[in-house]
Amino acid sequence: MSEELYNQIDGHLRVLKFKGMIPMYRELSARAAAGNLLYEEYLALLLEEEVKRKTEVSVKTKIQLSRLPYQKTLEEFEFSFQPALKEKEVIKLSSLDFIEQKENVLFLGPPGVGKTHLAVGLAMKACMARYRVLFTTAQKLIEELVLSKRDGSIMEKLMAYSRLHLLIIDELGYMPITREQANLLFQLISIRYEKGSIILTSNYNFDEWGKVFDDNVVASAIIDRLVHHANVFYITGGSYRLKNKLKKAK
Ligand code: ADP
Ligand code: MG
Repeated sequence: MSEELYNQIDGHLRVLKFKGMIPMYRELSARAAAGNLLYEEYLALLLEEEVKRKTEVSVKTKIQLSRLPYQKTLEEFEFSFQPALKEKEVIKLSSLDFIEQKENVLFLGPPGVGKTHLAVGLAMKACMARYRVLFTTAQKLIEELVLSKRDGSIMEKLMAYSRLHLLIIDELGYMPITREQANLLFQLISIRYEKGSIILTSNYNFDEWGKVFDDNVVASAIIDRLVHHANVFYITGGSYRLKNKLKKAK
């Protein structure tokens, strides 16, 4: 085959952004020409490469945009270390039906029991399914909302959050939340209520949220909306971080 023809094909594939085909088609064309492939088989193989590459790129982009603190999968989670945690119920969430149903997921429990890991694992699955996902901490989220309120961009900010399929709010409870902050958080939870899923992690159970929020009325209103369609997991076991420390110390 002439170099000129190859250059022409390469050019077309670049314009079409079918870059996955470029390294593949010469060898495949040679195989097809040798009579081993039907036209349709050739086309199917070539397209498959492109679909594979495009999917990989899109998942990678989703993961980057989601700002996960680290990448860990649900498969890496040792459920045997948290026997009280209902493995089946957590694994059921991998189907991501909860995102379709706009339900929330709450992981509650002391530090080190794997709340963030589970949230990240589900977030990775959502990215792979190409949902719009954003991971943030309660503190960062509240700071952002307060700043947006001050500079008059709060509605835009809330709208941006409402467009996500899945919002992860990590570590609610590490910082006390003032009345103004709680009101903003309430607005955010309200705008997503029955419209988009939230995964929230907290080191406090609901009955202790009074310690976190200055304003009990807003706290109850937030809990009310969060919990209405929620899968709540109380993780009561020991810290995985400590487990590794204890092992090393031996
Ligand atoms: P939390 O958010 O509850 O404080 P993390 O999810 O940050 O805890 O877990 C702390 C560390 O221990 C992370 O590196 C996490 O991947 C790991 N980890 C926690 N629980 C498990 C588990 N059951 N199996 C595997 N790794 C775990
Ligand atoms: Mg955590």
